[in-house]
Amino acid sequence: MEEKSIKQFEKDLSSFGISLTKKQTDQFIRYYELLTDWNTRMNLTAITDFEKVCKKHFLDSLSIIKAYNPNREIAMIDIGTGAGFPGIPIKIAFPKCRLTLLDSLQKRVTFLNEVVKELQLEDVTVFHGRAEDYAKEGQLREQYDLCVSRAVANLSTLCELCIPYVKIGGDFIAYKSEKANEEMIQAKRAISILGGLDAACVSFRLPETDYERNLLIIHKEKQTPEKYPRKAGIPVKKPL
Ligand code: SAM
Repeated sequence: MEEKSIKQFEKDLSSFGISLTKKQTDQFIRYYELLTDWNTRMNLTAITDFEKVCKKHFLDSLSIIKAYNPNREIAMIDIGTGAGFPGIPIKIAFPKCRLTLLDSLQKRVTFLNEVVKELQLEDVTVFHGRAEDYAKEGQLREQYDLCVSRAVANLSTLCELCIPYVKIGGDFIAYKSEKANEEMIQAKRAISILGGLDAACVSFRLPETDYERNLLIIHKEKQTPEKYPRKAGIPVKKPL
């Protein structure tokens, strides 16, 4: 890892008002090492260059700060976290939050458990399974102040997978790239059925790039009817 790339990452973070301690910088470097090492044996990421991982995975995950302050003792869940995005970078930079990671692929869950152990992250729980199934369990349903998700499904589907986890008064934030407005219009009905208020959108470009990013914030005002989410697979096949 070049010193120059680390400096660039720190500069990008400072434009978000985030500064890291030495321990946190080391955790990001170790996370990168684990990601690229395990990526030789399983499919975790198409991006492996350090500078690009910093920009498109780490910085992108931390862009949540433009819409929400996670630097508090909140309960947060990341649905379809894959190799840990956006959940793990948020936990490294904002260690006060309690994090739950959920993914339906066992091998990614094995990787995530290794990351949690190696980085000595506290208050992180990793679950293997479908979002549709876990949301039925009282233990996780409507338990979270914040639910986040990136690159998992279109917004209508994603709302059905995510909003059931959010407490009344909590928020769901979907990380989207372009065409976020169209998705917001299409998802209006789903959001209302599931107990959310209309989505608000924060748009920006990642520093020193032309990558368009949109954070869609949905505040939950009512309980999600018990019948949602529907059985695994239905929210994708027949979005609300
Ligand atoms: N969020 C990560 C990111 O931005 O890099 C991973 C995105 S990857 C394209 C989508 C992930 O969602 C996969 O790891 C997949 O296993 C998981 N996934 C898809 N549908 C799911 C479901 N219904 N419940 C739980 N995980 C799901």
